[in-house]
Amino acid sequence: MNKVIIVGAGINGLVAANYLAKNGFDVSLIEKKHQTGGACIKDTIEIGNKKIDFAYGATVLGMMPDFIFKETGLSKLVQGYYPKNPKLVYFNDKESSTKIYQDHVKLEEELRVKWGETGKVNDFRNDENKVIKFIQELYKNGTSPSIDLAKDYLGKELTRLWITGNAKDLLDHYFSSEKTKLYMGMTVIESGPASIYDPGTAFTIPLMDSGSVYDGYWGFVRTGIWKITENLTKINQDLGVKFYLESNIQEVDHDKNSISISKGNRDFKLNYDQLIFATDPVTPSRFLKGFKNDINLDLIGTSGKVTAFFKNHVRWKDSNNYSDSFRFIFSVDTLNSFEEASQNALKDLDDYFPGFIQIYPEGSAQRKMDNNEDFDKLIFFTKNLSYNKNALSLDKVKEKIISTVMPHIENPQDLVFSKFLTPMDLNETFLFPEGNIDHITLTGNQNFEKRTFSSKKDNFYSYYGYENIFYCGAGSFPCGSVAGTPGYMCSKQLIRSIKRS
Ligand SMILES: Cc1cc2nc3c(=O)[nH]c(=O)nc-3n(C[C@H](O)[C@H](O)[C@H](O)COP(=O)(O)OP(=O)(O)OC[C@H]3O[C@@H](n4cnc5c(N)ncnc54)[C@H](O)[C@@H]3O)c2cc1C
Repeated sequence: MNKVIIVGAGINGLVAANYLAKNGFDVSLIEKKHQTGGACIKDTIEIGNKKIDFAYGATVLGMMPDFIFKETGLSKLVQGYYPKNPKLVYFNDKESSTKIYQDHVKLEEELRVKWGETGKVNDFRNDENKVIKFIQELYKNGTSPSIDLAKDYLGKELTRLWITGNAKDLLDHYFSSEKTKLYMGMTVIESGPASIYDPGTAFTIPLMDSGSVYDGYWGFVRTGIWKITENLTKINQDLGVKFYLESNIQEVDHDKNSISISKGNRDFKLNYDQLIFATDPVTPSRFLKGFKNDINLDLIGTSGKVTAFFKNHVRWKDSNNYSDSFRFIFSVDTLNSFEEASQNALKDLDDYFPGFIQIYPEGSAQRKMDNNEDFDKLIFFTKNLSYNKNALSLDKVKEKIISTVMPHIENPQDLVFSKFLTPMDLNETFLFPEGNIDHITLTGNQNFEKRTFSSKKDNFYSYYGYENIFYCGAGSFPCGSVAGTPGYMCSKQLIRSIKRS
């Protein structure tokens, strides 16, 4: 029986463990923290004498492939939901929204009327769907991404536009209105301050829509997203995966294929045939010989998150009947100002450069799933925060974020508590290097076929030149998120190679 050790029990470690255990591997999972889940865990606060759980890190589900949701057994244990109402987009202080309809014809008309869009909205969606179909096939088959495969599948032109090209050219190709470009292109900086002029950044746009658990949309999990990692932990325990929590790696001896661990006051060694790191990509370099202290990566994160608790249901001034819709507030209205704000945060020129706020209506979505909680919850996922300070010293920034949203709400007086996290908090809480929610930024040289740490052509998930050491955290292809796709693809490739040998 092949002995595999997985380091890191976040979504990727858990998904890899699930597939490997089901395929006859003897799986041990080593986790530094006292619990599994990585950045997909809950936090709890007490307001008055009422306790309420909320998503500590990740909040919304969307990038997970539906086959992972089903094959792991999660679909039987976890109830999910995604809004069918249009998303609502606001620019600056305007109170009325532009509606992002799921129906292409209605969307084209809305963008024409509201933003003067005269470009090729329908072609954009159709071409994006071709790219998504292509990458979803890579996911399912565990096939490593390559430009040659993309050209075979999509042709030269779509590959240039959507995969090797930059986001600015892609958006200019399809759209005439700056506002459409901003809305369609905002995910380029989801992970961190990638430049829209950087070749390879176009790919982030279809990438962020390539989950299939909710048909490419984003949605919610009953109770909270941490139910995904909580349930997967239980499923894996039933499959015989051995969990070592609160365990610190002391040494990896890759000549002897063994790993030394300390847990409490006990030291022990485990042997492995394969060792998989499902952590951030810097962590393995600390334990393996031949690395300097830091490896050269674009790491900096610029995302922050405010969770706001209301004592009564939030009432929106605009379209309150769409209370479960995602809302987006832009503080910039041209691609140039979008780029400038994001790059200024990268350069740490100030603490906060308002770009956009994504509002996740967690409380309303919970009510749609018959989960009525004591407080209504809104999450404000915010760009662009510099990587420089903790939330405790950025009260004014938190107030600024909240005061950008409040004018859209009829009952702001019902806000009773808020919790803020900055990129530096993400580093300290979740061990993300420099606070990046995808472990590393989706810059052009860390995207698609370049999102690998392997120096071996035929072994995409291997870590540098090691034969039997792999990396499958959020920093590998396709990207981060509560998806488990890197964990699945890495385990699928490993299972295939063992069966062949
Ligand atoms: C504030 C925030 C908001 C986000 N919002 C969303 C969202 O709404 N939707 C979404 O899909 N994604 C979201 N994300 C991103 C998502 O949470 C991550 O991309 C995803 O959790 C990464 O999973 P992972 O398994 O690769 O790594 P992680 O979740 O980082 O797990 C890695 C695990 O490795 C462990 N580890 C690290 N070093 C060691 C070591 N030396 N020894 C043993 N164990 C170690 C860690 O403790 C951790 O448990 C968000 C993230 C944050 C922080």
